[in-house]
Amino acid sequence: NSIIGIIGGGQLGRMSAMAAAKLGFRTHILTQEADGPAAQVSHGITIGAYDDFDALNNFVQSVDVVTFEFENISADALDFLSKHRPVRPSGQILRISQDRIAEKTFLTNAGIPVAPWCSVTDLPSLQNAAETLGFPFILKTTREGYDGKGQCRIYSADDFDNALSTLSPHPLVAEGMVNFTCELSVMVVRGTDGTIRCFDPAQNHHVNGILDLTLAPAPVTAEVAHKAQALAAQIAEQLDLTGITGVEMFLDHKANLLVNEIAPRPHNSGHWTMDACPADQFDMHIRAVTGMPLPPARRHSDAVMKNLVGPDDMALWPQIIAAPALLPHLYGKAEARPGRKMGHVNILFPYGSLPGEFGVQDALGPLADITATRHSA
Ligand code: ATP
Ligand code: MG
Ligand code: MG
Repeated sequence: NSIIGIIGGGQLGRMSAMAAAKLGFRTHILTQEADGPAAQVSHGITIGAYDDFDALNNFVQSVDVVTFEFENISADALDFLSKHRPVRPSGQILRISQDRIAEKTFLTNAGIPVAPWCSVTDLPSLQNAAETLGFPFILKTTREGYDGKGQCRIYSADDFDNALSTLSPHPLVAEGMVNFTCELSVMVVRGTDGTIRCFDPAQNHHVNGILDLTLAPAPVTAEVAHKAQALAAQIAEQLDLTGITGVEMFLDHKANLLVNEIAPRPHNSGHWTMDACPADQFDMHIRAVTGMPLPPARRHSDAVMKNLVGPDDMALWPQIIAAPALLPHLYGKAEARPGRKMGHVNILFPYGSLPGEFGVQDALGPLADITATRHSA
């Protein structure tokens, strides 16, 4: 009967709160949005900024365990919360995932392969990075980037000045461009007893830096799928994780897996589990943070997840809701601004029958045309 505190008021908090309710828990949200996606479905709410210690104190006193759906919480706030209640995943994990350099350092020390990278603070270090990595490469802010925001592709030295002035604050991280054959992610969850469960790897397709489609399972060999899950499990173990984490990876032309980034929370690329698995990523996360046993991360169907982004996708809502094969999930956001994730749909296929990309396009029904246009642009 305990109360789960969730920091952040967006769709990941909303779906976590819905999973918590299903398991008999109440949720209390810390958010700045009184009527945001998570607040709409939670039992209690503290309104305040994530660095407002009065708000943090009210919030933490109202709950039994703290988790988050949002990663940019200050180290001081995490320390404060940890003094009062268990924070799951831990503040230490959040500090690693908040900072791309800390993240890559952790992964490398844990024996996990990552793309070649250099830290960049100024023009000379950017020139050094170009020599080490070769063109093209990607320059990213170390903190607070999401949906491809806070990164630039560098094709030649002509791009240096513009990139350094666009991306701030520094330090930045320069990453070798991985010529991947498949971008995949694994959702891994670890319970308080150390049990680890990995969902099947899924393939992600981004458009303009925003996740558009996820295909589960990823079209990779059983060997690659096992390797991806083993890497995710190794990360969970080394982090001493409690809760769920999304592990994004690239599969390169030599069948090597490189980890791109980790997100210690439910993840957009795990939304397919909501309809294709008896216990989805949110159920697993709530079970883990409340110390409950973890059932197997079983997938009973193949699935495609299509994000509903901005006004263009939402204009198709009447057709989407009328299409019987599309399983809709809306986030309760009032305004469909461009690039804003408004919801997603899942489409199920019998286990082992996920069609190739052509068949997937077909199955998208009213979303087929807009998706095809976007992916060919
Ligand atoms: P997210 O919304 O997943 O948190 P983000 O803004 O943190 O995104 P990344 O995941 O680092 O950014 O990059 C966004 C996308 O850009 C990746 O999913 C991938 O498609 C591409 N990308 C990023 N880094 C590389 C790389 N080193 N080589 C090739 N492609 C890359
Ligand atoms: Mg990210
Ligand atoms: Mg990413």
